Amino acid sequence: MIEAKLSKNYTSQIIENIKIWKNDSLFSIKTTKDASYNFQPGQFARLGLINQNNNTLIWRAYSIVSAPHEDFLEFYYTIINKGEFSKILLNLKENDNIFIEKSIWVLNDKSICWTKYKEKNNKLWLIATGTGLSAYISILRDHKTWKYFDKIFLIHSTKFLDELSYKKELEILSKTNKRFKYLPVTTREKSSTISETRITSLVMSGNLETLTKEKLDPESSKIMLCGNPTMVLEMRKILYDRGFYTSKQHITGNLAMERYWI
Ligand SMILES: Cc1cc2nc3c(=O)[nH]c(=O)nc-3n(C[C@H](O)[C@H](O)[C@H](O)COP(=O)(O)OP(=O)(O)OC[C@H]3O[C@@H](n4cnc5c(N)ncnc54)[C@H](O)[C@@H]3O)c2cc1C
Repeated sequence: MIEAKLSKNYTSQIIENIKIWKNDSLFSIKTTKDASYNFQPGQFARLGLINQNNNTLIWRAYSIVSAPHEDFLEFYYTIINKGEFSKILLNLKENDNIFIEKSIWVLNDKSICWTKYKEKNNKLWLIATGTGLSAYISILRDHKTWKYFDKIFLIHSTKFLDELSYKKELEILSKTNKRFKYLPVTTREKSSTISETRITSLVMSGNLETLTKEKLDPESSKIMLCGNPTMVLEMRKILYDRGFYTSKQHITGNLAMERYWI
């Protein structure tokens, strides 16, 4: 009944694959996708699941991991202890149904029109904590991204090394595409390559620029921040002080942000 009522605004898809990145904690799903379902990399959709206890539909926002050209939809998620939606996510099985909103949302101009950045010598810095990585995978998989930027750097911070999901895919991309560099940062475990344990200190120490051999300058850089609100707000302050700015009515910014919670 719920399905029939909502079919105008939502599509019902089948979960074809569930990948466990970390037991009981980090997962990704691949679902079927309607041919008419369009989106831009960097966008998110609300997912809907039925709480069997009271037969209600619950909705939560999730960034789309898959690229627009892929014939499936992919989402990457963490299980929140005592989270209402997480409880249902944890019990998902392959071939289960999931509702996916038809209207796609863009928060804080994360999908700014990038044509402005087609000029040469442009750098894209993708900075994420935890599952904030999701949208960046879509951006990196999308062929168009590589027309707009000369170089792309991905800085992904997690607590532990085994939470660096998609690492293999990103390392392969790093090896095969000289224009891309992957910089994982772990806050509670020592990484073999990067001494800093926080994104903010990596930037403040100047080590980010040393490791990438590139300047984090507002003239030729565009930065995206995604994930933990504390990281996003701290980085915003650091970047504002360096001359970065978010989009205003008629001005396209060079800094875009998405906080996964408040
Ligand atoms: C635009 C947008 C895009 C999002 N994309 C993703 C995504 O791709 N993957 C994903 O896992 N989540 C994503 N989220 C967050 C996702 O919507 C929440 O994980 C979801 O609300 C969890 O629902 P819940 O009912 O289980 O827990 P809730 O009761 O809604 O959350 C409880 C608490 O858990 C913490 N929390 C919430 N989300 C996270 C998180 N992702 N990581 C760590 N702590 C968190 C917060 O402190 C929050 O107050 C996104 C949120 C927004 C706003």
